[in-house]
Amino acid sequence: MPIYRYACTCGYKHDQFLKQDKQEVLLKCLRCGKNIMSRQVRDASVTFAEKDMVTGVMRNEKG
Ligand SMILES: [Zn+2]
Repeated sequence: MPIYRYACTCGYKHDQFLKQDKQEVLLKCLRCGKNIMSRQVRDASVTFAEKDMVTGVMRNEKG
């Protein structure tokens, strides 16, 4: 499942996990609430972890 990454004009950067598979999605900045276009990131070094209904993104340090 893809990750979408944005870097908002307010300076906030975020990787968002989504089930939909598109090149770009419109997300809301978690800091300022502005709508921002996010691009899908294809990164094999990233794995997902789900805990307590929250989906997080974890970096795989090896390699
Ligand atoms: Zn922002």
